Amino acid sequence: MSRFFSDKYAALTPYVPGEQPRDMQYLKLNTNESPYPPLPEVVEAAREEAARAHLYSDPTAFALRQALAARYNVSPAEVIAVNGSDEALNFAFMAFCDAAHPAVFPDITYGFYPVFARLNGVPYEEIPLREDFTLDPEEYIRRPGKTVFLANPNAPTGIFLPLAQVERIVRADPDRVVIVDEAYVDFGGESAIKLIPQYPNLLVVRTYSKSRSLAGARLGFAVGQSSLITDLETIRYSTNPYNVNRMTLAMGAASLAHDDINRQRCRTVAEVRDSTAAEMRSLGFDVTDSSANFLFARHPAVDGESFYRKLRQRGILVRHFTLPRIRDYNRITVGTAEQMKTFTAAVREILEEST
Ligand code: PMP
Repeated sequence: MSRFFSDKYAALTPYVPGEQPRDMQYLKLNTNESPYPPLPEVVEAAREEAARAHLYSDPTAFALRQALAARYNVSPAEVIAVNGSDEALNFAFMAFCDAAHPAVFPDITYGFYPVFARLNGVPYEEIPLREDFTLDPEEYIRRPGKTVFLANPNAPTGIFLPLAQVERIVRADPDRVVIVDEAYVDFGGESAIKLIPQYPNLLVVRTYSKSRSLAGARLGFAVGQSSLITDLETIRYSTNPYNVNRMTLAMGAASLAHDDINRQRCRTVAEVRDSTAAEMRSLGFDVTDSSANFLFARHPAVDGESFYRKLRQRGILVRHFTLPRIRDYNRITVGTAEQMKTFTAAVREILEEST
């Protein structure tokens, strides 16, 4: 830290992204990316836009918002485009939280929430999930006035909270905003977007990073009634009006035009997820019931860190967490059927040498 760094940020512990190693070719099952590259039409759309890169991108992202609005049956005024859904989450902490509206979220959830809270000087409360990592809606219902952040399906557990339960939390207090982060919903959950017409206090955050194969393009969006979106636009125009570059805007629209293929790919990932989970359970793993594109698992015979290290030695990267409650677990991104065969073969070897 330099002596110039503001006191405001001196105590900040930044978010630690999953490893992106360059030392060797790994099977990367650690950052929940799609195993499929973007479609050729999507790559071509970026190439064409690159020839116009001397011009700023459309600060209103109008064409993309219009396409998203049509896809999700809302109006363009109910959609904001962002540079990865992380940006929408940060904007939501800026827009909807303060000392009078602290944030609440589960103790086991996306690690960026506490970082965004601290970055923005927002007080926050972490509510423990139940022993089995499911979420008790009553905990949120009995905390009116607090801005709720829920990843649904949750990360890193993959557990989906049924929409009726999400709705109970939203309905319980119309005077606070509930942000539902649906980064993984295309792999099995049900989106809360359909509730938006009834609830002015509901914001749904989505990403292209997982289900639309565009993690590296950095594209996300949020959907909510236009008054909430206007607030986020105020923040966006006060930070970076050209937040989404023109290549990414074009890729986003082209990807939506081929959404049937994205959906098919998500179904394949979900099938591979379920068969891999069944195989792991048969090998003695505890595996949570995941609706996402990853599995969250532990084995009684190998501690989480050793399992992570032994996989790494075999060229396979998964995500290990150090939080005490989940340090025996690893989060394993679901790849192609072939990649998961490589993974389970390595798992069998590790178990043989450990038991
Ligand atoms: N929410 C959750 C729950 C996530 O796991 C991630 C991925 N790290 C994100 C949001 C952010 O995704 P992106 O910024 O790539 O859209």
